[in-house]
Amino acid sequence: MSLPAHLEDLNDWEKKLGDPFVDDSVLSFNRSLVLDENSELPKDCIDELKSMGYYEYLVPDKWNGKLHSYQHLYHLIRSLARRDVTVATMYVLQAIGNWAVLICGTEEQKAYYCQKILENEGVTWSVSEREFGTDLLNNQSTALKLDDQYLLNGEKWPIGMCSNLRFTMFLARTGEQGAADSFSLFCVDREMHSSAQYQNLDGEALFGVRGLDLSGVRLTNCPVKDDQIIGSKGNGLEVMLRTQQLNRIGACALSTGAFDSALRVTMGFAEERKLFDQKLSTIPITQLQLTDAFCDLMISELVMNCATRSLHFYPKMTFLWGAIAKYYVPEVIGKGFSELADIIGARYYMRTNFASGVFQKAWRDASLAAFADGNKKVNLKNVAMHMEVCLPVFEKQQGLSEEEQVEIREFFDLFTDVPDAAYEDLSVFSGKRDYVTLHLQDVMDELPDLLSSSLVSDETVFAIRNLGARILDDFKMLASEVALHKNRLQKSYNYSPESFLMAQKYSALHAAAVVISTACYTNFQSPLDTLEWVPACLSRIRRQIDPNRNYPTEADRNSIYTIMEKLYNEDMAFTPIPLLYNGENSSYRDKSFLYI
Ligand SMILES: Cc1cc2nc3c(=O)[nH]c(=O)nc-3n(C[C@H](O)[C@H](O)[C@H](O)COP(=O)(O)OP(=O)(O)OC[C@H]3O[C@@H](n4cnc5c(N)ncnc54)[C@H](O)[C@@H]3O)c2cc1C
Repeated sequence: MSLPAHLEDLNDWEKKLGDPFVDDSVLSFNRSLVLDENSELPKDCIDELKSMGYYEYLVPDKWNGKLHSYQHLYHLIRSLARRDVTVATMYVLQAIGNWAVLICGTEEQKAYYCQKILENEGVTWSVSEREFGTDLLNNQSTALKLDDQYLLNGEKWPIGMCSNLRFTMFLARTGEQGAADSFSLFCVDREMHSSAQYQNLDGEALFGVRGLDLSGVRLTNCPVKDDQIIGSKGNGLEVMLRTQQLNRIGACALSTGAFDSALRVTMGFAEERKLFDQKLSTIPITQLQLTDAFCDLMISELVMNCATRSLHFYPKMTFLWGAIAKYYVPEVIGKGFSELADIIGARYYMRTNFASGVFQKAWRDASLAAFADGNKKVNLKNVAMHMEVCLPVFEKQQGLSEEEQVEIREFFDLFTDVPDAAYEDLSVFSGKRDYVTLHLQDVMDELPDLLSSSLVSDETVFAIRNLGARILDDFKMLASEVALHKNRLQKSYNYSPESFLMAQKYSALHAAAVVISTACYTNFQSPLDTLEWVPACLSRIRRQIDPNRNYPTEADRNSIYTIMEKLYNEDMAFTPIPLLYNGENSSYRDKSFLYI
């Protein structure tokens, strides 16, 4: 088993980070749990990661860092989150404001702030205001122009890592209240200001990620120079919307990473626990819950691969595909945690002992992904806005040109390297042509030829074709449903519950289209190479839309569970790419960990 060159070092990192069930590993579960119980910042772990060079991946190679692809960075964040979501969140927050610089900063700004990140001086993200939350147009912080400088006034709360990092991106009004072009984004350096000008607010006690520094900042007549504006005066909201697309992808990695560990622990428990003279894992309903959780994770991974690779191939689409991912992944994973808790029973509720407390901490921590950087409703609104213009184009059956088809095949092949990231091309509208949807009919037509020479059985090809045809029908039905609701509700459709429900369906169908296209263009490695998991994932998505359809048979369940067992027993992560789990010879299968 091998990883493609552009992802190759991920397995080296797995080995270096080691097995978190071992106490002297870089990120041991036991240590994380003690720190979490005491709400302590995991500073030693962070320092060790920095000295190992992990933080260099937050800066693009062009600016002397090691970041080459967002697909790769996603896996680095995910890998930390499998061990400790608090550490992974701190990692993401280190560079959260610097993406704005990469998107629209000057060359001097890019060089300066990237260098600062490499020197371990992070750039936080100060956008939220206590009173207004997601209602950004009402934000009250101001920037008043005085000669060659601005005076910043206002309070931002709650802000991650605000008390610890040197720089913060501060969104403030430079124009009339209520206008979209009246905001500007300033990078503020706390070292340049007195405590009267730059004041940190008290920290908050948290439900999850308890060791995280979450506080806020109050600026009072805080002077900043013109060249501290990122982008141009008045385009702060636009810069923010473009930057959030990258932050959203990072937030989803917290979810999938935490769920990988939670699923692993639950599977171990179901394998070892015997009730009524049988293993829990052999009870049909439990096996269905486990295989559903596995499918949910695989689907989420493919949706994330689509979102991360879009930055390199289709930066304009990142707005839509990232919004879908940011709604779909935390939503599905959140429900999945609840199903896994049902399998574990009373033990999941205990903060210590059972599996080193991994499960309950992962669940609490991962819930952060649902609201951070745009909650579910904000993302669904973005999806709803796009599907209204994308579905009519889909209905006209305007597929992709031959040139576009060549590119999309490469895009969906997870094992091919990506072109350089086009940060500057991130947009605030993805346009009318959703390439994933438009390509679905073509890939369905090609499917038998594409899979004919592979290890995929005729039955599996038939099942994928059959389900794919139904998904195409579902897309068409969705277009009619939207038209009906719009006709009935007229202007009130845009804010109606119906528009959110339609966007949820569009997101699920997008996930299905992504699964089909990725399955066709990627040469998966054992045990995923037979693609038996693909029909199971498609059925799972159709059941997410309507719980009464596509129940898997016993044979379907068994084949998925066999794949899970292989990954589990061979220390492979539950990912579509062949990633090691915890390095080598992981000890998580030692049942004593699961029962103490
Ligand atoms: C651990 C943590 C870290 C954070 N880090 C940062 C940070 O670094 N920087 C930063 O700026 N902020 C940060 N935040 C703030 C966070 O991003 C919040 O999402 C943001 O403040 C918006 O607040 P809210 O989700 O509470 O939503 P509110 O705006 O208060 O909304 C409450 C509810 O209203 C509903 N709603 C909102 N909008 C709509 C809509 N358009 N349509 C229908 N319903 C809607 C939703 O159900 C929503 O949950 C952090 C918060 C936490 C807890």
